[in-house]
Amino acid sequence: MRLTDHEFNRLTVLRHMRAAQPVSRTDLASLSGLTGGTITQIVRELVQRGMVMEQRVETGGRGRPRVNLSINPQGAYAVGATLTAEGPFLVDIIDLNGNCVSSTSTMLRGTQQLADLADQISGVLRDAIAASPVAHDAIAMVGIGLPAVLDNRTGTVLMLETFEPGPYPFADAIARQLGVPVRLDNSINLLARAMHWFDDGSDVDDFTLVVLDLGLGAACYQNGQLVIGSHGIEAELGHTKIVPENGRRCQCGALGCLQAYSAISGIVGQHCDAHGLAEPSYLVMRDAVAEMVQRARAGDIATQGIFRRAGHYLGIGLANHINMQDPDRILILSQHPEIVSLISEALLASLAQNVLPHLWDQAKLAFGKLDALSYSRGAAAMVLERLYQAREPLQQT
Ligand SMILES: [Zn+2]
Repeated sequence: MRLTDHEFNRLTVLRHMRAAQPVSRTDLASLSGLTGGTITQIVRELVQRGMVMEQRVETGGRGRPRVNLSINPQGAYAVGATLTAEGPFLVDIIDLNGNCVSSTSTMLRGTQQLADLADQISGVLRDAIAASPVAHDAIAMVGIGLPAVLDNRTGTVLMLETFEPGPYPFADAIARQLGVPVRLDNSINLLARAMHWFDDGSDVDDFTLVVLDLGLGAACYQNGQLVIGSHGIEAELGHTKIVPENGRRCQCGALGCLQAYSAISGIVGQHCDAHGLAEPSYLVMRDAVAEMVQRARAGDIATQGIFRRAGHYLGIGLANHINMQDPDRILILSQHPEIVSLISEALLASLAQNVLPHLWDQAKLAFGKLDALSYSRGAAAMVLERLYQAREPLQQT
């Protein structure tokens, strides 16, 4: 689902304005690469909608005064919220500049029902808006991130670990209760959006983000746009097939998925296979992998082999992606740097062996620590993206 040229141009103008404001139309044209005519047309629309403010600056010389443009922070407010894997539900309320005006964190009740989860989230959002300085009517949109397989076009949850199977119309259920439009996306797409919108300095228009956690997820940006497939689903790197014959069974039901070897659940699962143990639940999976890290560091050859295999297969999966897409950068994020350090040698060797020589450059690969707060920043970025690209004020759908 790609943006129209006009939507993309509007988004581009607002992104550059946000970074350089206050800024003149002329400077905006050179920053964005768009023509003066396109800038004038887009700015006119945005001023009419109250999203952009004009300020005349007397230059002292002859000729027309310079007009500076900036985003009207009170032009709209948005809510960015996210459900973390086992932590609290985070809610940020942001202005149109992306600045946070209110932030809350709430533990939800344990449940396996998606409808109950949607009810709880609606209640938390209503309370968070009521406790903030922003009136309920001023909220233009709510963006929510879930660690789920979901259709981000319709806001339908298809599969969320430890919950009853979908599909469930999650965004609609919350929008009905709140009376505000709601957009839903996968947490990893939101992390990628946070990088694209809020990282400073580096080029963040073309990159692939990989998150090594209980599962294994990815998101790709190309030419400044998040890549979304025809089903509205993020890049499911974890479910690409890596062991074609007699592979391990994945949570998705298929055999030989990369996630069944290289995600934390796959690493722990292989240890359980080797010792004839039942796999632990997701709730204690991090404790189980922490024990494996200790064992590997103490010199246990079999455990070291499981981490090496995780790195080797992840390298093959990423090599296939690089050979097909040639991303500018790949960033691997994890909450557990100790796991990354145990797999990285095999991962790099596998990449060097499997990526086409012309395409391989170790400098394009970087590792980082996953910061849970980036999820809600990404949810806020998703809403900003939507508000910036929309032609009209948003209506509840
Ligand atoms: Zn799978």
